[in-house]
Amino acid sequence: MKARANRTDRPMVVVGAGQGGIQAAESLRDEGWEGEIVLVGDEPHPPYHRPPLSKEALLDTLDFADIQLRGPEAIAAKGIDFRPGIHALSIDRAARTVALDDGSTLAYEGLVIATGGHNRRLPVPGGDLPDISSLRSIDDAYKFAAALGRAETVLVVGAGFVGLEIAACCRLCDKQVTVVERESRVLARAVAPVISEIYARLHRERGVTLEMEASVVEVLSKDGRATGVRLADGRILEADLIVAGIGLVPNDRLAKEAGLACELGVIVDTCARTADPDIVAVGDCTATAHAPGQPLHRLESVQNAVEQAKAGAAALMGREKPFVAPPWFWSDQYDIKMRSVGRSADHDRHVLRGDVANYRFSAFYFRGDTFLGADSLNAVQDHNAARRILDRGLPLSPEQLADPTFDIGKWARAAAPVA
Ligand SMILES: Cc1cc2nc3c(=O)[nH]c(=O)nc-3n(C[C@H](O)[C@H](O)[C@H](O)COP(=O)(O)OP(=O)(O)OC[C@H]3O[C@@H](n4cnc5c(N)ncnc54)[C@H](O)[C@@H]3O)c2cc1C
Repeated sequence: MKARANRTDRPMVVVGAGQGGIQAAESLRDEGWEGEIVLVGDEPHPPYHRPPLSKEALLDTLDFADIQLRGPEAIAAKGIDFRPGIHALSIDRAARTVALDDGSTLAYEGLVIATGGHNRRLPVPGGDLPDISSLRSIDDAYKFAAALGRAETVLVVGAGFVGLEIAACCRLCDKQVTVVERESRVLARAVAPVISEIYARLHRERGVTLEMEASVVEVLSKDGRATGVRLADGRILEADLIVAGIGLVPNDRLAKEAGLACELGVIVDTCARTADPDIVAVGDCTATAHAPGQPLHRLESVQNAVEQAKAGAAALMGREKPFVAPPWFWSDQYDIKMRSVGRSADHDRHVLRGDVANYRFSAFYFRGDTFLGADSLNAVQDHNAARRILDRGLPLSPEQLADPTFDIGKWARAAAPVA
């Protein structure tokens, strides 16, 4: 790890002013960097929280003040030179400079790449029609909310979290909603089959039509406007509004062109370090392996962006503070909040506890006797307990959970009291 002075004549530069970028800039201060910090972001806005864009904010007035993470004054108060509306074009690692699209070049002492990702476009004829919506930025959300006001029927392509959250918002606005999904189950990449089944039931109960194992092969249009889609089986589904939620492509071009290793994103270790001791990368643009030899994966979550940013800022200052906590995230659909912690991907058994019929329960996942993680729907106490158990490595067993009198919260608190 490269030891670094608390100040040099070059600034620390953060490219990307989203969740990870603002955290990295602030964490550099927390880590003792006394020199200049420049935060460059290509959106015209100060950093903001993206999760509400597919949730309650879509139904409300989309007031930017409600989702802003830090205002310009708060950023300036930390001595951070925030430059909105500026896109970083390239990195010269030998000279330690970043070229910006305003024609200037920034020398850096250390560089944080926090460029997030962009939404994948539908890779079919008509998939690039300008009125196909997708939600990544506040400006996308303004555009979508306006189009939703004029629409009666909405077609959502993709039954991942963002797609299903949008579907729920549209139903709450009384729109007719169809979700088209290529896989045989909803949320297939993200959750266990048991949770997919429950979410499919929930959406059908609330009036969404789910078209499963259905691939869009063409977007149909009239006078340049999208009017519907053709499916692989030949059926045509018409809609006033089409929205695609088919995943994220990491913005790793800058890193790739600078010769940094990229696969699924900029490859970093648990301290957010790239192979260049002066460059870290954080958030949605990165891919990492949990342990040596484990496969690379990309986590797209607030927790990941924030924790990697803290680790990356520490690493730039020469300190090792790896981000190794179990991953967690949440999703809001209708009146149901799901909180997930850990992983379910490799489980070989699960235990359900609570009121499944009324969407107030948790699914706990095990591989053999090892507790891997839990998905909790409207069950925040279970989620908190599961986090504590995973954080401390407590020996939770399926047999304990099978006992209806077992109080997981009490057990977790007793086994690992707050210091
Ligand atoms: C609709 C939606 C709902 C979500 N819901 C949840 C949720 O419920 N729970 C959860 O945990 N997570 C959720 N997420 C994911 C979460 O918001 C992201 O994981 C998080 O924002 C990642 O932070 P980041 O800093 O890596 O990227 P971002 O927040 O995307 O910020 C990256 C910034 O970098 C800018 N940029 C890119 N390239 C350049 C360049 N070359 N020069 C300058 N600037 C550049 C981008 O324009 C952007 O402003 C959601 C995301 C979306 C879009």
